[in-house]
Amino acid sequence: MTIIKLTKRQEEILLIVKKDGPITGKQIADKLSLTRATLRPDLAILTMAGSLEAKPRVGYYFNPNTELKKHAADIASQIVNDYKAHPIVVQKSTSVYDAIVQIFLEDVGTLYAVDKNGFLSGVISRKDLLRAAIGNTNLEELPVSVIMTRMPNIVTVKPEETLLDAAKKLIHNHIDSLPVVRESETEPNMIEVIGRITKTTITRAYAEMLEI
Ligand code: ADP
Repeated sequence: MTIIKLTKRQEEILLIVKKDGPITGKQIADKLSLTRATLRPDLAILTMAGSLEAKPRVGYYFNPNTELKKHAADIASQIVNDYKAHPIVVQKSTSVYDAIVQIFLEDVGTLYAVDKNGFLSGVISRKDLLRAAIGNTNLEELPVSVIMTRMPNIVTVKPEETLLDAAKKLIHNHIDSLPVVRESETEPNMIEVIGRITKTTITRAYAEMLEI
């Protein structure tokens, strides 16, 4: 879905059509004290976006799906920083055994591994832990650094990106969670983890906003 940010005038047109539609372009123009020609591009945009329907000799009328689309667009354009959850982080020297315990204790699906300076170095998912547990009897001796997905293969999201950006990354990479990161101010090219965005985060954002 393409998200179109409506102008103030386009919002006004939508309100008029919602209240008085079906209504002709000329009647809308009169209500706004504008000419029909001035409104033509706005009406074209609203019609192309699917917000308005136009029928010859009837006029413009409101598409009830618009509300839902607008809601969806509002949610998708929220920024990651406002929705990020607390990241659950372990040292990359942590054993697979302790990582499994941590997953249960923290009730999360993914852990982020950091090096001794606290910079992001890996991602450990449930499947990584299951894979390591099959046929490995010495889980207390096996560090997560051996089984984790490492930098630079980690897909991350920045705090200023949108929930839609995050959702696309989750879907395209077939993963459940994204570390929210920022570059270290002291060590260039090193990355700090400041949060996490998961499929649950995005589902919750939709559920919360649609309940308002
Ligand atoms: P699960 O293992 O519970 O199905 P995921 O689908 O998130 O969880 O993980 C699948 C694989 O992708 C794992 O090997 C994991 O290490 C890796 N992975 C998870 N999140 C990321 C990420 N943000 N960037 C890169 N790889 C990831």
